[in-house]
Amino acid sequence: MTSNQSLDTLVAEAQDQLSAAVALRRRLHQRPEIGIHNPITTDALLESLEGVDLAITRHQQTSGVSALFTGSKPGPTILLRADTDALPMPEDTGLDFASTVTNTMHACGHDTHVAMLVGAAKLLANHRDEIAGRVLFMFQPGEEGYGGAEYMLDEGLLDVPALADGTPSPVTAAFALHTTSALPTGFVSTRGGSIMASSDELKITVTGKGGHASDPSKTIDPIPIACEIVQALQLMVTRRIDVFDPAVVTVARIIAGTTTNVIPETATIEGTMRAVSEATRKKVHDGVRRVAEGIASAHDAQVEVELRINYPVTKNDTNFADFALDTAGGLLGADHAFRLPNPVMGAEDFSYVLQRLPGAMMFLGATPLDVALDKAAPNHSNRVYFDEDCMRSGIAVHAGVALRHLAPG
Ligand SMILES: [Zn+2]
Ligand SMILES: [Zn+2]
Repeated sequence: MTSNQSLDTLVAEAQDQLSAAVALRRRLHQRPEIGIHNPITTDALLESLEGVDLAITRHQQTSGVSALFTGSKPGPTILLRADTDALPMPEDTGLDFASTVTNTMHACGHDTHVAMLVGAAKLLANHRDEIAGRVLFMFQPGEEGYGGAEYMLDEGLLDVPALADGTPSPVTAAFALHTTSALPTGFVSTRGGSIMASSDELKITVTGKGGHASDPSKTIDPIPIACEIVQALQLMVTRRIDVFDPAVVTVARIIAGTTTNVIPETATIEGTMRAVSEATRKKVHDGVRRVAEGIASAHDAQVEVELRINYPVTKNDTNFADFALDTAGGLLGADHAFRLPNPVMGAEDFSYVLQRLPGAMMFLGATPLDVALDKAAPNHSNRVYFDEDCMRSGIAVHAGVALRHLAPG
């Protein structure tokens, strides 16, 4: 295991990488890209990695890139991940490196993720002699709802070749950091078990019989039926879901009708479903169907329930989460690394990586220390501000986790 002495050096080495990381982050911030094709971002990160001895694989279906770094001794491979994509929204930060692309903004900090992982790769390259194994740097597009990680996994991201002498070096762990304005700069947090929720969508179409608004008995009015379903879904969550294994069902959209004197034929409701365990996730799916079908049938209406399945629960390995927290505490100070009491109800496609490998996602705070957290604009806000100093901590934690995991025995 790497001693605390060299963990201390890592923060100073991360500091040496900071100005390059800031420059790369600002370059990406000005030119954000959405979805699974982020070619400008990929070019920029590959350019920044020039000179580092990496085996680069460009993925086919997406602009995803993986880069394999080989240490001086044999050992397993650890995956470190950064997502590369931005969000379809305007930026109103007023920063002098604000987005120059209309309705596109790095509002989730993925620009900082890329810059930190590039910084960590350069830092780790200076420690080849202390690395028994390999580091697989994963740069994935399309995290914000496009399933970019799954494309890369399907293309064989984890099928890494053996070492030159034929010794197997399988990927045995995975780690990712997510920048957040919910924590102060330089603080990190994670937890064992579920850390982020599953995210699925619902669309329920109630079909009745249209007619004159003055004579409802000649119709089957879908609007009160849809309203009853909206209410009953909340009842289903509070009465059928364990409060200690929670779920959120939010109906965020209702579409029905055209004017005041017409009963329409259909009413549609749409929304999101979140859960922090796969068991509750299934209970919610079943409950939504049962409630919608039961209420529609009680009123002689037809109903179509469409559930769009998106990201699964992001589940940390308990041992690895402890290991990552311990590493971060050693680097940043024990008071800067704390255990999250609860999962966060957002979702992440790093969940797919953690379905295949033990590992952890960790949050990295980026709200300046002199700003109150409750005043800081959240991730995905058009005004979110990430303190670039957080990247020093992020680079050090990425590197520290890899170095300790791959320490020669
Ligand atoms: Zn996001
Ligand atoms: Zn994100």
